[in-house]
Amino acid sequence: MTSVSEADIAHLFHPYTNLARHPETGPMVITHGEGVRVFDEAGKDYIEGLAGLWCTALGWGEERLVAAAAEQMRKLPFYHLFTAKTHEPATRLAEQLAGLAPVADAKVLFACSGSESNDTAIKLIWYRNNALGKPDKKKIIARERAYHGVTIATASLTGLPVNQRGFDLPIDRILHTGNPHYWRCGQAGETEEQFASRRAEELEQLILAEGPDTVAAFFAEPVMGAGGVIVPPATYFAKIQAVLKKYDVLLVADEVITGFGRTGQMFGSQTFGLQPDLMTVAKGLSSGYLPISALIVAGHVYEPIKAQAGEIGSFGHGFTYGGHPVSAAVALETLKIYAERDILGHVGRIGPVLQRGLRALQQHPLVGEARGIGLIGAVELVADKDRRTAFDPKLAIGARVVAKAQAHGVILRAMGDAIAFAPPLIISEADIDEMLGRFRLALDEAHGELA
Ligand code: PLP
Repeated sequence: MTSVSEADIAHLFHPYTNLARHPETGPMVITHGEGVRVFDEAGKDYIEGLAGLWCTALGWGEERLVAAAAEQMRKLPFYHLFTAKTHEPATRLAEQLAGLAPVADAKVLFACSGSESNDTAIKLIWYRNNALGKPDKKKIIARERAYHGVTIATASLTGLPVNQRGFDLPIDRILHTGNPHYWRCGQAGETEEQFASRRAEELEQLILAEGPDTVAAFFAEPVMGAGGVIVPPATYFAKIQAVLKKYDVLLVADEVITGFGRTGQMFGSQTFGLQPDLMTVAKGLSSGYLPISALIVAGHVYEPIKAQAGEIGSFGHGFTYGGHPVSAAVALETLKIYAERDILGHVGRIGPVLQRGLRALQQHPLVGEARGIGLIGAVELVADKDRRTAFDPKLAIGARVVAKAQAHGVILRAMGDAIAFAPPLIISEADIDEMLGRFRLALDEAHGELA
C-alpha cells in the first residue's frame, strides 16, 4: 500500500497550494488533535494558531460535539428543507440565530460554506431588487483585500489577485473600493479619523460615478481576515453606513470569521457598530466540526423576496445539504457550549493577553505593525520599519517565517507578509505564551538569515 503522502501526491488536488512544487515539497499529514494542538504522522505537536481555517473555536477533541453528531446521525441522518419539509435541528438553529444576530425580524437560510452563503446573498439582493421594480440596481461593492469566498461571484467580490488571476474574474457588476488599513493606506499627516472620512468619501464618489440607481449592496467583513487581519478605525463603519443609507445601498456583514466571539462580542457587527441588512456566518457556527453556514436576512429584505416567490410560484434556490440535520445538531450544541462556558467572557479575559503579546513583537526588527482585537491578530513584516517598506515579494518572507514557525511547532498562515493569529477561542494564557514564544524563535531565525 502506498503511504498517505505518496497517495496524496498522486491523486489529491490541493486548494491554496503551489501545485507545481507539491510533488517535491509534499503534504503535511495531520493525524489527530487535542485542545489547541494537532499532531502529525511522527507524533510531533503543533499549536494551531489559526484554529485550522479560523474555525475550530472549541479546539480538537470536544466530545460533546461528537456525541451530538452521533445522536442525530442515528435519529435522522438526512432530511432536507425543500418543499416545506423541516426538522427540529435546523428549525431550532434558525430560531437561535435569529435571536442572537443584530438583524431585525430575521429569517435564516442555510448552506454549507461561507462562499455559498455570500453567493446566495448576492442572488437574493438581485432577486429582491427585481421584485422592487429596480432591475438596474444590481452592482455590488466590496473592498480591496476582502475575502468573501471562491465561487464565481464571491471570488469576484474577494479583492485578492490570487483568487482572480487566471480564472477570468471578476465578473461584471462587482466593484471594489479601498480597505480601512490606516497603517498601510493612511496618508502623511492624516489622522485615523480623517482616513476613515476619506474612505467614506471615496465610497460615495464611487456610488455617484456608477449611479446610485445601479448600486445594490456593500459587503464587509467587520475585521478583514484573509486580507491580512485589518481592524478598521473606530469611526469607519459609522461613516460608511451613513453613505450606504443615503443611497439606499444594503449592508452585508460577512461574519464568517468574526461571528461567535472572535472579536470579543458575539458578532463583529456589535464590536464595530454595524447594522447589517444581511449577515453571513459559518466556521465558528459548528466550531468547524461539520460544514454549515447561514445567511441571516432582515425582515425588510425578506418581504419583497417572499412576494416575488409567491408570484413565481416557488423560491427557486436551495442546496441539497443546506441545514443538514447532523450539522445543525452540532451547531446547536456548539452554541450551547459557548453559552455554558461563557466563551465571550473568556475571550474578554484572554484576548488582551494575545494582543499584548503581539504588540510586544512590534519591538522585533522584522515587525512593522502588530494589530488585532479579541482573539484575532496579525504581525506585518517589513524590510524597513521606519519607512514601512515591504520586503521584495520574491523573498516570500511571510511564507518563510511561517515555515520556520511550523518547524518550532506552531501552525500559522501568511497573508503576503502579514502573519495571522486566530487560535481556538478556548486557548489558555499559558498556550498563548507558548505559541508566541515558538513564533519569536522563527522571527529571530529569519532575521538572522537576512542579516
Ligand atoms: N468569508 C470570509 C470572511 C472568510 O474568511 C471565508 C473563508 O475563509 C469565506 C467567506 C468563505 O468561506 P468558505 O471557505 O467556507 O467558502
